Amino acid sequence: SLLCAIILGIMATTLPAQTVKKDYTHQVDSVLKLMTVEEKVGQMIQYSNNKLLTGPSLDSRNHTEEIKRGEVGSIFNILTVERAKQYQDLAMQSRLRIPLIFGLDVVHGMRTIFPIPMAEAASFNLELIKKTASVAAAETSAHGIHWTFAPMVDISRDARWGRSMEGAGEDPWYGSQVAKARVEGFQGTDYNDRNTVLACAKHFAAYGAAVAGKDYAEADISEHTLLQVYLPPFRAAVEAGVGTFMNAFNEINGIPATAHKPLLRDILKGEWGFKGFVVSDWGSVGEIAKHRMAKDNEDAGRLAAIAGCDMDMHSMTYARHLVNLVKQGAVDITLIDDAVKRILTVKFELGLFDDPYRYNYREKEIENKKVNAAHRKVAREAGAGSVVLLKNQNVLPVTSTAGKIAVVGPLNKAKKDMLGNWSAIGKAEEVISVFDGLKAALPKAKITYIEGYDLETNELKPLPDFSEYDVIIVSVGERAMESGEAKSKVDININANQQLMVKQIKEKAGKPVITLVMGGRPLIFSDMEPYADAILMTWWLGTEAGNSIADVLTGKYNPSGKLPMTFPRHVGQCPLYYNHKSTGRAWAPNNPWVSGYMDESVKPAYVFGYGLSYTTFEIAAPVMSKKEYKAGEPVVLTTSVTNTGQYTGKETVQLYLQDVVSSVTRPVIELCGIRQVELAPGETRKIEFTLSEQELGFFNSDKQFVTEPGDFKLFVGSSSDNLKATEFELIKK
Ligand code: BGC
Repeated sequence: SLLCAIILGIMATTLPAQTVKKDYTHQVDSVLKLMTVEEKVGQMIQYSNNKLLTGPSLDSRNHTEEIKRGEVGSIFNILTVERAKQYQDLAMQSRLRIPLIFGLDVVHGMRTIFPIPMAEAASFNLELIKKTASVAAAETSAHGIHWTFAPMVDISRDARWGRSMEGAGEDPWYGSQVAKARVEGFQGTDYNDRNTVLACAKHFAAYGAAVAGKDYAEADISEHTLLQVYLPPFRAAVEAGVGTFMNAFNEINGIPATAHKPLLRDILKGEWGFKGFVVSDWGSVGEIAKHRMAKDNEDAGRLAAIAGCDMDMHSMTYARHLVNLVKQGAVDITLIDDAVKRILTVKFELGLFDDPYRYNYREKEIENKKVNAAHRKVAREAGAGSVVLLKNQNVLPVTSTAGKIAVVGPLNKAKKDMLGNWSAIGKAEEVISVFDGLKAALPKAKITYIEGYDLETNELKPLPDFSEYDVIIVSVGERAMESGEAKSKVDININANQQLMVKQIKEKAGKPVITLVMGGRPLIFSDMEPYADAILMTWWLGTEAGNSIADVLTGKYNPSGKLPMTFPRHVGQCPLYYNHKSTGRAWAPNNPWVSGYMDESVKPAYVFGYGLSYTTFEIAAPVMSKKEYKAGEPVVLTTSVTNTGQYTGKETVQLYLQDVVSSVTRPVIELCGIRQVELAPGETRKIEFTLSEQELGFFNSDKQFVTEPGDFKLFVGSSSDNLKATEFELIKK
């Protein structure tokens, strides 16, 4: 029994932090048996709450009659618990009283808005990422919503793509870790805990591989790239127990994602054993006809249902055609049964059959009083952790003795922009602006706001001569609504006038100029770069943006963010990513005959994994625990990191690998581990990394995931271009 206890103990500590799901097969089957075809198809239909209808009660435009007939499975875009209740009351009038499930895009916060997902990814702090998702889940549940359409786990290698902001950047390994953290954060370990919501991994798949960065455009990529780069974060979401998936809008190598049977039935539901359900993207079932793979809407519905799209988000296609398609025999009823079972199972798992009004009462109470201070604290911490220090010529941190500070640029006063795209019910009036944050952080300083340029037109405004100021803090960048869905761009340079303004300020003032770059994606700002003494990437940090930024500027928080996506120096370099392949030519930077451009360097402006601190770190050369490892054996290496500077700070030590020779080509280097450590000045910490076959392996030309014997190089360092190497040999078992 002691042995038993030990084994149980080991299991308890090694079990994944997955949502515990009971087996509801019996309950689901007994409901399914009672259902008509109309009711079954009904479960596969999702409508958007009509946001334009603000009246106190629902009417037929809210699909009230269909709901009462039991012919709707889900409603989304509900924002209040009162409205959720009205809808559920209708479902409770239906013959079988099957509860509706309510969804919403809670992407980076419900009421308390956290940094946009790309920003949070820059924190490289998986615990923090998980925490913000769990806080968002509690607030969401307090509004009667059961399900968030998040996390977006699309890999984005092209800064032109506006939806880069919603993901974790360009790296498949890190993207997988973030996917897992977010799923665990939203779903928790127990759905019966009313602090949790159902998560949704989207957009399946390869949405970020859109040709030329154009939103919705085709992903014309090899199966190799699909398997190696775009699918891993989805797989990680399944392994973390994600309850639902969402289709992508795009087509992949000739098949619209919503009609992609090989992806949905063979890979997701087959090979990966995914038991949840798949919702289409908005209207994407109907769009199969626009892709011209189906001759009309009915045909589109047929293809989507056969492919394994279980729920139609608002395209009306299933509502109009699926019952007939089943009755004509064009769609087999067993496929419908499979979809309905999946949807009912999730509804059982969430506890909706026991409590159709499932929501978090405690949070609701708090929320009714005032914005939750504890949640704001998490947002402030997440915001500070998301900032990336790109340049610092000894001007930061700003000390509280700084007498006179000029704060230039309308984004420093902006509130709504700080929320970023997809801000659910976040309220602009609750946002702390940079200006407000600085005033609170530096009560003794005299802080003056200067507009600098017009937020709408980018026209320059007259500038003072700045002679009286000790330091100037300038904000430049995009507006929040310039990144997100349908926000792709051919030009990711920061507006020329804004950059000119930085130059003029530096020339007039001759004092330290600190530049805050705001935006949702990698931006280019080489024109102003020489005139900025310090540059911080501050993204969109949410409700607490101003406090987070002030914490960083004043050194209360020593910046620790790293770029999760490469910042190009020229838009013509896009797509640009660190984990590219070797060419047939020996590597030499800036030689177009080797690989690159004759008119621009191949190097990025800032590389993947880059980010400075107010202190400095020294990372020691890595040491392998041995020189040879048998396949399957854990590969162990150690390094150490020392804080060699003046401030306590956090470093994210990054581990990359190179498979020296492989049967299909592999990237020059690939991230395969991170370790974040906080160190006081002079302190040293030893770090150990352990790699398994999961990290060493790859998909070979037979699409098998394998490791191959031979030499490997491993690199540790502070960014993807500041690395120290070691090597080992993998030998056969
Ligand atoms: C987006 C999805 C989102 C859905 C519902 C679509 O346009 O692509 O990411 O979840 O709308 O709002």
